[in-house]
Amino acid sequence: MSERRLNTPASSTAPAASTIAPRRATVLGVVLFLFIPVVLVLFVAHPAPVAGSLAAGLLLMVGHRFLARPYMLATRPHKCIWCNRFFSERRPGQLALVLAQGGDAPALDLLACAAHVDPARRFFAFVERCRQPLRIGIGLPLGLLLGSLVAFSAGLGDRTESATALFRLAVGLSVHLAALGPWLGAPREHSRAAFPVHNFYLLGVRAILWIFRLVGIWWIVAGGSYWLKAAGLLQ
Ligand SMILES: [Zn+2]
Repeated sequence: MSERRLNTPASSTAPAASTIAPRRATVLGVVLFLFIPVVLVLFVAHPAPVAGSLAAGLLLMVGHRFLARPYMLATRPHKCIWCNRFFSERRPGQLALVLAQGGDAPALDLLACAAHVDPARRFFAFVERCRQPLRIGIGLPLGLLLGSLVAFSAGLGDRTESATALFRLAVGLSVHLAALGPWLGAPREHSRAAFPVHNFYLLGVRAILWIFRLVGIWWIVAGGSYWLKAAGLLQ
């Protein structure tokens, strides 16, 4: 557990912001974020050939980490984890929270603008608290969807439609649960990462949560109506 004092300007511990070009880094973050919707389209729409979509999605998913994690390590000292803005003299960064990571990875200092320390703390504390339902709500339907795509590619039957509907409904509900974090979480100074934090550094937590909320509504309606029809409760 870190004994460092929080709520102090982080600029003394951060490299000079001039070593990184904010505009270029912001565009690069958007490009790296776009990997995520591409992977989701490959899995959810699984355009033919399905085996090719599955292989491309898995390759992008695994490879993305090797680009997004160095991006996070390079930009983390310079920008707000919440709003994604680069710090300046007028808007200096503060140490918002210390985030423990899994395995041997060292804890990360997450920095934020003064106004965004509180929502960042609340979000990461809430996601840690809900990590088991979130991991099951995302991991289990993802495993079933990938399994159905493998089975279809191997000629072992077609369960892809129901697996896709389950994935959309469960992930839509899970991301809406996570998006309650800024309101329901405790403003803790130390949290443990429930998911790889590098994805949040691509656009900032605030923008990513709004994308999750909007796509989540669409997926809850699409996935939910499939299951209501399957149960005979919807024409
Ligand atoms: Zn901010």
